[in-house]
Amino acid sequence: MRRERPLIAIDGPVGAGKSTVAQRLARVLGCEYVNTGAMYRAVAVAARAAGISADDREAEPKLDALLKAARIDFLDGRISLDGRDISAEIGSPEVGESASRLSTLAVVRARMRDLQRAAGARGGVVMEGRDIGTAVFPDAEFKFFLDAGAEVRAERRWRELAARGVAITREQVLAQLHERDRRDRGRELAPLRPAPDAIVVDASRVGVEEVVALMAQRVRARGGAA
Ligand code: C5P
Repeated sequence: MRRERPLIAIDGPVGAGKSTVAQRLARVLGCEYVNTGAMYRAVAVAARAAGISADDREAEPKLDALLKAARIDFLDGRISLDGRDISAEIGSPEVGESASRLSTLAVVRARMRDLQRAAGARGGVVMEGRDIGTAVFPDAEFKFFLDAGAEVRAERRWRELAARGVAITREQVLAQLHERDRRDRGRELAPLRPAPDAIVVDASRVGVEEVVALMAQRVRARGGAA
């Protein structure tokens, strides 16, 4: 099916500022915003409630059954699991860690990919994640890869967590970030990397407003705006 409007993929490592940039870009272009990291985090919440861990021997069949029965809805930047709003809950470092582990499993990735393809089928969507331009929508009209140095990303992530009252040191955040990077880039399925045709933006050098303006300009220059 041909999309009526463009699909804009924004991929990149943890802490590069994807969420802020993607949300603002969606607003500027009059598009919907879909945060796929939140979907993996919703899986983590569902798995925890069901007592399933990524290391269980029977994790894959159990998760398959769980995800077939679970309803994950996302609207206006909020996310719910079986009708319960879990937007606040998914932000914790524990849920992030569990999401990162569960995201290495084939059944989880397959189910998320189907949900993401359905969400973006008609276009007019800014979708952020790790593999949107490479695995979910390799035919996306626009692909951006937002990167930044580990120190810059750790500082940003630490500020976000501190603002939410999470007790954690900068050093702990940096260590977690290295571990998450290693897992995201090194996994077998849909590893984190820029698509060959992605525009790579270094967010250590440019501020959010500039990044959004640059992306919006690219999209509009090719007649992709609303
Ligand atoms: O972006 P966020 O940190 O919320 O994502 C949580 C975890 O979900 C990531 O560490 C990553 O392992 C996984 N993820 C993924 N593919 C995506 C989005 C997130 O594997 N498209």
